[in-house]
Parts: sequence; structure tokens; C-alpha cells
Amino acid sequence: MSDTSRSMTELRRSGSIVEGATARPAPVPEGVTPSQGGLDAWSPRVTPPIGIDLTDEQTLACAFRILAECAFSENIAGHITWVRDDRGTMLVNPWGLWWEEVKASDLCVVTADAEFVAGRWDVTPAIHIHTEIHRADPRARVVAHNHPYHATVLAALGLLPDIFHQTGTMFDGDLGFVAEYAGEIDSRELGADLAQRIGDASVVVLANHGVIVTGPTVEEVTYRAASFDRQCRLAYDLLVAGRAATTVTPDVRGAMKASLLERGTDVFWAGAVRRLLRTQPEVMD
Ligand SMILES: [Zn+2]
Repeated sequence: MSDTSRSMTELRRSGSIVEGATARPAPVPEGVTPSQGGLDAWSPRVTPPIGIDLTDEQTLACAFRILAECAFSENIAGHITWVRDDRGTMLVNPWGLWWEEVKASDLCVVTADAEFVAGRWDVTPAIHIHTEIHRADPRARVVAHNHPYHATVLAALGLLPDIFHQTGTMFDGDLGFVAEYAGEIDSRELGADLAQRIGDASVVVLANHGVIVTGPTVEEVTYRAASFDRQCRLAYDLLVAGRAATTVTPDVRGAMKASLLERGTDVFWAGAVRRLLRTQPEVMD
């Protein structure tokens, strides 16, 4: 993380976030070994499937609509990019469509340097936010960026959400804050500068701007992005409440995070796609 981003601890120390206590750890009954969570702790024998196979384009189109339904997107803003292969070409949404109306056939292909390759529509230079994050961090095969409301409230206050709820553990150790606002990022140089400021953080709040979520798969990035604004809304409501709030005790965060991401990602995704197909089947077109 760059020296310009501020950690949650620093923000708490500055007194700019609700200063509460960590919830008391529950005593572990004698003879019980605390679970490390994740698939090692329990793996389902079977899970409800989506019911159909999706192409890459259909998969990404579903991600746009799922996140639009979660209020992650602000009308015309934002991109999700997906580097599918080692050549670095990526799928991306076009300029001019709102996330809630993207269909599989609307998606464009650009190179690792943001050169247009294919698609019905055009792609804005703001794609450089994404190309340079992909270039800087090969683990970030998927990058989602938009301006979810409650996250932008905290962004303007200079705050990151603390882990006030167990779902927030999925962000434990992964949050970053970029305090400088550099205006429109429309060149490779500006995108690279932002990527450098982001560093290792995979969920980044940009002051006066929005949020970037990165990850290895469309499913995981969609799950985390869909969950993040809710955690920000929770943090905001606690700020407004003006009372000290407890946070999840650090010693159980890792196990809970593993369970959410390893066990929850696929079933979140399958359920979200099933719901979408019931009401918006044209997303597949
Ligand atoms: Zn933006």
C-alpha cells in the first residue's frame, strides 16, 4: 500500500471513526478446537446449480446486473474488466450503457494497453484505471469499479468501514484508502499512478470518487463488491447513531473470512444468477 493511503487503524486512532470496543471473544468449551473455517471445516456434498452453462460474456453481463441490483453502480459510471487469458485481452462494458441494461452481446474486448479489439460500442479512456491495475497485479484478473453510495459517503469523510459485522470479515486485511483525488483518470500514466497508490489492497476506497474491488474470479469480485456497500452502510448508520460500537474480535476473523469466501462465493453467485434469470433473462442475449 502506498504511503498516501490510510489504514483503518490510523483512522480509528485519529478519532474519525466510531471508537468502540472489540466484541468479547466467546469462551471455547473444553475439548473443542476452534475451527479454521473454509472448505477444510466443512464442504457441502452438493449445492443448488444455476441450471445452465454460461459463456464468459454471459457471466460478465450477469455480474453487471447483479451489482446494479445491489446499488453498487451509479448510472453511467464504472467498469468491470476480466482478463481471461495470458495475452492480456479483457472483456469490458461499453460506454453509454447503464450496468442494469448490459447484455452479453454488448461487451467489448480491449488489449492490455486499452486498444479496442471488438464490440458493438465504444470504450472510454477511463479503462486505464483497470488496465494498469491488471498490469501491476497479475492476481487481479477481475477489476470492478463504481461509486456505491454509502462507500462514497465514507470516502468523503476519509473513512474505511471497520469490521462491525461478521460479513465484514471477508475484507479483513484487504482494505485500502487512496486519499488523493486526481480527477478523471484517462491515460496509462494516470492509471499506473493510481495502481501504485493502491498497492496490495484488493478493496480500495478512493476519496471523493468510489470503490475498486479486485480478485481472481468474476464470482468472487461480484460477491465482495455486492457485500462492501452494505458494510459501508452499516458503518455509516453506526456513525450517525453516535454510540460506541463493537467490532468482530480479531482472532476469529480469519476463519470467518475463509468460510465466507471459500464456501459462500459459489452459492452467492449461483443464487444471484438464478434470481436474475427469473426476472431479466435477456441478460443472456
Ligand atoms: Zn469512477
